[in-house]
Order: sequence, then C-alpha cells, then structure tokens
Amino acid sequence: MIPRRKTLAAGALLAAYLLLEWLEYGYGYSPLGVTPWDPSIGVAFGALLLGGLEFLPVVLIGEMGSAVITDGFPPPLGPSVADAVVVAANWGVAALVLRRHIDIRLSSQYDLVVLILVAAVAALTDAMAHIAIIWIDAGIPPQTVIGPILARAWIGSMIGVMVMTPVMLVHRQPPGRQTRRDLIEIGLQSLVTAGVLWLIFAELPADGLQLFYLLFLPGTWVAARFGLRGAVLINLVMQIGVAIAFVLAVVDTDAVTGNQFRMLALSLSTLFLGAAVSQRRRVEGDLRDRQDQQARYSRLSTAGEMAAALAHELNQPLAATITYTRAAQRLLALPLVDEAKVRTAMDGAAAQAERAGKIIRTLREFIGRGVLNREPHSMAALIYDSVALVRPECQRAGIHMEVSLDRAMPTVEVDAVQIQQVLVNLIRNAAEVLAKSGGRRRRIITVSARRNDRAEIEVEVADSGSGMPDDMAEQLFRPFSTTKAEGMGLGLSISRTIIDAHGGKLWLAASGPDGCSFRFTLAATTQHHQNG
Ligand code: ADP
Repeated sequence: MIPRRKTLAAGALLAAYLLLEWLEYGYGYSPLGVTPWDPSIGVAFGALLLGGLEFLPVVLIGEMGSAVITDGFPPPLGPSVADAVVVAANWGVAALVLRRHIDIRLSSQYDLVVLILVAAVAALTDAMAHIAIIWIDAGIPPQTVIGPILARAWIGSMIGVMVMTPVMLVHRQPPGRQTRRDLIEIGLQSLVTAGVLWLIFAELPADGLQLFYLLFLPGTWVAARFGLRGAVLINLVMQIGVAIAFVLAVVDTDAVTGNQFRMLALSLSTLFLGAAVSQRRRVEGDLRDRQDQQARYSRLSTAGEMAAALAHELNQPLAATITYTRAAQRLLALPLVDEAKVRTAMDGAAAQAERAGKIIRTLREFIGRGVLNREPHSMAALIYDSVALVRPECQRAGIHMEVSLDRAMPTVEVDAVQIQQVLVNLIRNAAEVLAKSGGRRRRIITVSARRNDRAEIEVEVADSGSGMPDDMAEQLFRPFSTTKAEGMGLGLSISRTIIDAHGGKLWLAASGPDGCSFRFTLAATTQHHQNG
C-alpha cells in the first residue's frame, strides 16, 4: 500500500473505531466496561489482518479513546493503558498467526474454521485479561460476577469479530457484475429481511426476541445464493437489526448476552453455508476454465494441422506457378520473343494458381459442409439449443442473451448440427466482441427469428458491441480474414458455405457504433410448431 493510502486507511479505522465504541458504550449495557457487542474489535482485527501490525498504534489510540468514552476524561490511566496494551497485543498476535497460516480472503472452509478458532481463543484471552485488570485495579471481584463478565466479554468480542472482520476480508475486492435477476433477488431478500426484523420489532418488548429464529430464513437464503460475500453482509444487517432491538427493548444485560450466543450460532451457520457455496462455485468455475482451455487447445491444434496440410497442398502449385512465371520472364528477355511459348507458360501459371484456389475451396467446404444430413427440425428448438450451448460462457462475461421468436415457428429441413454450428459461430463472434468491450456499454445479444415475405425463415443474431471497421466488413466472408490474435478467420466463410448449401443466404445486415447484426435465411417447410 502506498503511504498516503495507508494514512487514509488508518484515519478511517480510527474514526470507525471511536464511532463504534461510542455506540457500544452509549447505552449503559457495560457495567465494568464490558459489552456483549463489540464490533470495534472486529474492525480492528480486520485491519490488523489486512494491513499487518502497522495498524497497531491505531488500535492502541482507539482503545484509549474508548476509555475516555466509558470513563470520561481523563480516564484512569493505569487500567486503561493496560487494557489498550492487552487488546492490541492479543489481537496483534492472533492476526500474525492467521496471516501466516491461512488465506485471509477466506477462500476455503479450512480458512474459516481456523479464523473462528483463533478468534475464540483471542476473545477468551481478552476476557480473562480484562478480569485480571479489574482484579489488580479494584481487588478481587465477587465470585458471582466473574462468570457473567467472562461470558459477556467473550461473546462481545467473538460476535464483533465474526460479524465485522469477515466483511472486511471478503469485500476487499469489488463485487462482480450482477445480472438483473440477481438484483431482483437481492431486492426480494432485502424485503424479507426487513419483514422479519419488523416482525421481531413488532413483538417487542412483550416477547423479547422470541421470533429470533425467523432470521435463519434470510440468513440461509442469502448465503445459499450469494456465497460468502452474501453471508457476511446478511450477518451484518441482522446483527445491526438485533442490536437496535436490544437498545429499544431488552434492558437486561444478561438477556442481551444470552441473545448474542444465539446470534453467534446464526452467524456461524450462515458463514459456513456461504463458504461451502463459494467453494463449490470456485471449483465449478475452475473446471469450466479447464474445459475452455482444453477446447481452445484442441481448436488450436486442429488449426495447426490444417495450416500444415494447407501449406503442404499449396506448396506444389505455387512452386509450379513460380516456375512458369520465371520461364515467361526469361522468354520475354530474349531478343526474339516467341509469343506461343510465352502464352503456354502463362497458361500454365494461371492453371496452377487456379489449382491453389481450388485446394483452399475444397478444404473450406470439407470443414464447412462435410456430408449434409437433412431432416425436419423445429427452428425454435435449434435456436434454443444453440443459445444453451453458449449461455454459460456468455453469463461469465456478463452478457445478457435474449431470444425473440414469432409465435408459430415453422419446421425447417436442415442438417441440425451444421445450422447450430452457424448459430454458435455468430453468437460466439458477438460474445467475443462484447466481452472485450469496456466501460458501461450494455452487453446484450439478441437472437430473433421470423417469417419474411418470401415465406422463408429469417434468423438474426444482433449484438450491442462496437461494430466492425469498414474494411473488415468488405472482406468478412473471405477465408482467413480475422482481427483476432487467435482467430482463424474461417467462422463466417464456413457459415456462409453451410447456409449456401442449404439454399439460403447469410449476410451482414448492419454494423455501426451500436453493434452488428448478421442474418440468414432458410426455406420453411409447411408444418408449424407452436412455440411458447
Ligand atoms: P474469427 O472469429 O476466427 O476471426 P470469423 O470469420 O468468424 O473468424 O470472423 C471474422 C472477423 O469478423 C472477426 O475477426 C471480427 O473482426 C469480425 N466480426 C465477426 N463478427 C463480429 C461482430 N459481431 N462484431 C464485430 N466484428 C465481428
């Protein structure tokens, strides 16, 4: 971290620390300076984990500030300095241990378990040290209060750490793109959480927190859907809600302490569920990446084989063309030009060049067409199947896909695999352009199909990308024209060969700053498939 950012972070930490301490102790639940809800320690611990021991002075100053808040100014010097040193040393050591042994982004269940165990031990040390300081300062506390103070101090630090620290650790990286569906679901979850908290508040103070168990509903929902990132946020929201309920209604510190134990159980369940969900998603993502990589390799190696085959096949006619042309040059250089011989040499060169062209054409048709296997298929099903094939990679790139079909989609007599190949080529091209588009451009691919006035089906794949350069648009369907580093420049030319072979047409319908659209037609047969 550069020094200026670090100073800013330290300032923000101190401000948060003092604000939280003031909130914690502002409501009189802290006889002997012990609170059953200590989020400031969670924030301090998060900062020590993220930034290292450089934040220790801030924690010391924060704790001294907190002594002023609880005891007024000037605070009793001995106990407050001792308290501050104990807190800073204790959580500093815990942070050092964790930084060395776990991934502090909590990327696995193991990291979470170790964090919980270390925090539990540190909270216990903290609580015992606090009692020792009271002891030294004011004499032996009565036996009856030691247990409750210990419990209160432990749960206060523990819940503070379990709620605040993971938020800092997990939300250090900005969130990924949310789809519209995600946003709608987040809205619903917020409504349910607000509803449950409202129910809890409505029963206050008559039943205390009897309806507490209802919080498991939003807790598990959010964790199951949004993994650890969701879990830590819902825990924070629920703890704030419950803390407000304490302030409004539950005056008895022991009752608050009891509730905090229940809160801890809830928070830990949500965290574990969230971590499990995140871990599973990560494994799935890794698997998909590996599959993608494999597909890319196999595409590259096919490309390599093809290039080798092509080079081999083309070598002979090209060499012959050169021989004929050189012969013609030599003949022309003679004082007496024999026109017939020159013509023969030039004819030979032209024939060889044509042969080279034919080799490329045959290869392209071989890749593109193979043997046509035409059967009646529902056009709607072909489109939905192709969209399903590319949907996962589009989703990962934050691309929204829309399909819009006429209600009555006719059947087509086609080679299904080949038509899907065309659709997949067009959608992939669009997705590749969109995935590279930066800024706030909306990423949408629309696949639509309708009957045109010549009774054909016209299918369109349109994207919201940045269009293509004019010179590219002109040579788009020529083999080997590509703007991509790894591109073969064959996709569109093969697609056109396939559509031609089916008696249809494929063309670039539009290209501009708002995106491209490609269209193709296929002859419709008479049967109709009802769809939607
Ligand atoms: P490749 O994808 O291997 O480059 P294609 O024949 O499929 O081969 O595409 C040729 C070129 O056409 C691409 O490199 C790209 O520059 C351009 N292109 C194709 N589709 C689009 C699109 N939807 N938007 C912008 N450019 C496109």
